[in-house]
Amino acid sequence: MAVNCCWRFWAVCMLTFPSTFSLQEEQPRVLLVSFDGFRWDYINRVPAPHFHYVMKNGVHVKQVTNVFITKTYPNHYTMVTGLYAESHGIVANEMYDPILNRTFSMNHMDIYHAQFWEEACPIWVTNQMEGHRSGAAMWPGTDVRIRGVLPTHYMMYNESVSFEDRVSHLIDWFTSENPINFGLLYWEQPDEMGHILGPENPLMRVVINETDAKLGYLVSELKKAKLWDTVNIIITSDHGMAQSSSKRLIELDQYVDREWYTMVDHSPVVAILPKEGKLDEVYESLVNAHPNMTVYKKEEIPSRLHYKHNSRIQPVLAVADIGWEIVKNKTNPFLLGNHGYDNTLPEMHSIFLAHGPAFRKNATKGAMNMTDLYPLLCHLLGINPLPNNGSFSNVEDILARPVPRELHPRDYEKESYAYFIGVSLGTILIIVFLVVFMKHLTHSQIPTVQARHTEIAQPLLQG
Ligand SMILES: [Zn+2]
Repeated sequence: MAVNCCWRFWAVCMLTFPSTFSLQEEQPRVLLVSFDGFRWDYINRVPAPHFHYVMKNGVHVKQVTNVFITKTYPNHYTMVTGLYAESHGIVANEMYDPILNRTFSMNHMDIYHAQFWEEACPIWVTNQMEGHRSGAAMWPGTDVRIRGVLPTHYMMYNESVSFEDRVSHLIDWFTSENPINFGLLYWEQPDEMGHILGPENPLMRVVINETDAKLGYLVSELKKAKLWDTVNIIITSDHGMAQSSSKRLIELDQYVDREWYTMVDHSPVVAILPKEGKLDEVYESLVNAHPNMTVYKKEEIPSRLHYKHNSRIQPVLAVADIGWEIVKNKTNPFLLGNHGYDNTLPEMHSIFLAHGPAFRKNATKGAMNMTDLYPLLCHLLGINPLPNNGSFSNVEDILARPVPRELHPRDYEKESYAYFIGVSLGTILIIVFLVVFMKHLTHSQIPTVQARHTEIAQPLLQG
């Protein structure tokens, strides 16, 4: 009877545990890579064998619709928060916060005041608060102490650190005794050369080839470290690039007195802070000034841009049409390639590739939103997403295995509750099983006390 009892409990345990402990499979790992300014269609201009290798063995989403304004800092922060710029607070590369009375400037690396970043909580902070470890190689914002937390491993931003050095750090962090589960890697190209040359310049082929070679290096180093097949890797970018021209300049000096305003952020989306009492005069001077420039008072910015509800968005916004630049006058330098324009324009869209155990193979999808990356990352890492503007449902079709509805990231609270109940029941069953099993052993070895123990064990046998 005791033996029967043991097997019955063992069977119950075995039936219960797979659903309980499958959630404790090997710690999932993710590496998020950004090649700054890699426009979605660059891969069609050169053979790009390494990009195509990843696509063939993983997922390719042709275009990522990023967020307005299509600049570097706003979009990198969207990737790791799932929020529009007005909600995460990094509304531009150059900002003025009237409440903090502080300026944020990517160009001067004046970005280290934590309050600029603390309107949102980036995924590496959440990852670490859930007991994991993160490592960041130059990803924007990862060398700032946000909500009191820095990544477990990080590198102070220094443009001159080579790609190879950044990769080497990440591989060390993934393979160390206390490994990270989440890595972030940032590389400045092809953005820098795209600005200098313009995306339509034939020399961009060389730059794209060089970026492809960097990806090839990353893949080969991951293979050497035996990480390629076990880490989920996402390769994406913050924005595309559009061709500018000296024939497409809009000169503000022709329309408005430069003493009336401060230009907080620059072309092609110019953030204008009028001097005291000059708001209406500045706006009226500019609103119909040029057919390729749209000028909004802050409260009139279309809601589809999700770019209104933040004190760092200035009272007047001037947005150039694609390919146009807004300058004070022609003596101002301008770039042959630029981005920042309306995020519905395909020239602004970026690339998305993914490879790893979680992803389908040789799968193509037309488009996704950049805000959807965050819930996807949370799902891959098995962490709870914070409220965000993305949707996991929009991207779950790129995963190798369908995700049960109850495991969708937005339902993680339910999962945690179910997990807790499952573990508790499992633990109780193990204890009961062991108690009964020990009693059975005792019965076999000490026949004289068998009768007494059988009495105790009997109710359990009936349960
Ligand atoms: Zn960028």
